[in-house]
Amino acid sequence: MAVILPKQIGAPEGELLFRTSDKITDLKEAVKIVNALKETLDYYGGVGLAAPQIGISKKVFIVHLQPTKDDSDLPDVRWKEYINPEILDVSSENNVYAEGCLSVFYATLYGEVIRPNFLKIKYLDINGKEHIDDIYHPFHTRVVLHENDHLNGKVFLQQMKPDDFARLHWEKDLDIRNKSKME
Ligand SMILES: [Zn+2]
Repeated sequence: MAVILPKQIGAPEGELLFRTSDKITDLKEAVKIVNALKETLDYYGGVGLAAPQIGISKKVFIVHLQPTKDDSDLPDVRWKEYINPEILDVSSENNVYAEGCLSVFYATLYGEVIRPNFLKIKYLDINGKEHIDDIYHPFHTRVVLHENDHLNGKVFLQQMKPDDFARLHWEKDLDIRNKSKME
């Protein structure tokens, strides 16, 4: 089992969450990390997870997005891994949405973050093939930027406008320590 309780900000083991991750140079290592990320994200639920969240300071993250009966507007991305990602461009159009994070108080704290609607990203897939994708779905864009921030040592709280801190809210029922699969 490679399910790992995500590391938390404010805890010594969460220190990597504030560090810039290293590039992947060995694809075999990336495969192992991606598998561990998938198992952990599948167990705890959520839409994305980055390597520093499971204690590995490497440039890899995954997203898991699929339309559900409650939210049919979600993009049909399924499982996707981004290795050594680089954001090449973002749109000037943006949107506001409340984010939480498996590494921020066990996904119980939510705050509004302004993010661009679209982006262009370069990355390697699990076979080491380079891709350049345009992402046109604002929620997919949001998740990619949130996860990419983790590789740059940032959590969503650091992307919030100070004025918006007053509207941070707690969702105690979503505490990942109490259940698997937030749905
Ligand atoms: Zn996060």
